[in-house]
Amino acid sequence: EVKSNGRGAACRFIPAIRDKAEERRALEADLAQALARGELSLAFQPVVEASDEHIVGFEALLRWNHPAHGKVPPDKFIPVAEATGLIIPIGHWVIRNACAWAARWPDHVRVAVNLSPAQIEDPLLIETVQRALADNDLDPARLELEITESLFLNEKPATTAKLAALRGLGVSFALDDFGTGYSSLGYLHKAAFSRIKIDRSFVSRAVQPGSEAGAIIQAIVSLAHSLDMATTAEGTETREEFEFCRALGCEQIQGYLFGRPMPPEEATALVRPATRLRLVAE
Ligand code: C2E
Ligand code: MG
Ligand code: MG
Ligand code: MG
Repeated sequence: EVKSNGRGAACRFIPAIRDKAEERRALEADLAQALARGELSLAFQPVVEASDEHIVGFEALLRWNHPAHGKVPPDKFIPVAEATGLIIPIGHWVIRNACAWAARWPDHVRVAVNLSPAQIEDPLLIETVQRALADNDLDPARLELEITESLFLNEKPATTAKLAALRGLGVSFALDDFGTGYSSLGYLHKAAFSRIKIDRSFVSRAVQPGSEAGAIIQAIVSLAHSLDMATTAEGTETREEFEFCRALGCEQIQGYLFGRPMPPEEATALVRPATRLRLVAE
């Protein structure tokens, strides 16, 4: 499309921009009510051990079922939640809910919760995590907090101290979407990450002929291992991708191959054989 300085051409864009702004304002207003109206829910996606393909954890992923528009994708409403500050109360709810579900799973199954940079600045974050663990009698080692490189892009002075305080509770950190955001590696020591999550963009390109993505995955795995971190390959959709990542030394695998994000009851049944047997017997 030709960008023009001429008035006539520019006008064509104005209605579209206004529509977008209006759509966003409407989304903001609806999102402000969504929590209280029970429109938010968590879906849990399995993470498996590469060596034996057993489930070792689930990632909690937020879902919004809008009364008029149906399912709104997180990539659409999370940025709105971040921009409006709604991510703070919503985030508290996610942490409490994820811990409550994890408490019903066997001890070896962890739960991963995503944290936006804005949530790290939340003065109530530490207390919220602490209370969610205590109220559900959940071993802190079973909670993994996923943060992205973008946190360190506009890093506040208090960020490192905040991460250390969280780490002091006994929870672990994973670096999400690694390799997509930020080219500096200087921040890697700041949160004592246990795990790097290799972004889906590398995993899906890895098995394509002539792609450099495989070499990048290899480099990430070797970087992780030399810093005493494990890796998870995100967005693994095919057996071929899985075998490829496993051969390169990725310890854990997450993706549609092993399960899509699913309702909490379904996730729970996958890791609690007794529950599953009862369901089958009925
Ligand atoms: P993420 O943390 O990187 O989560 C992984 C995303 O990849 C999820 O998208 C998941 O459904 C998708 N995925 C997993 N396996 C596959 C696969 O094999 N193929 C494909 N095509 N996709 C796969 P989702 O659920 O749409 O979430 C998008 C993003 O929204 C998340 O990316 C995360 O950054 C954010 N998000 C989701 N829930 C929360 C939350 O509770 N709090 C915050 N702060 N952010 C969240
Ligand atoms: Mg994540
Ligand atoms: Mg990710
Ligand atoms: Mg992502």
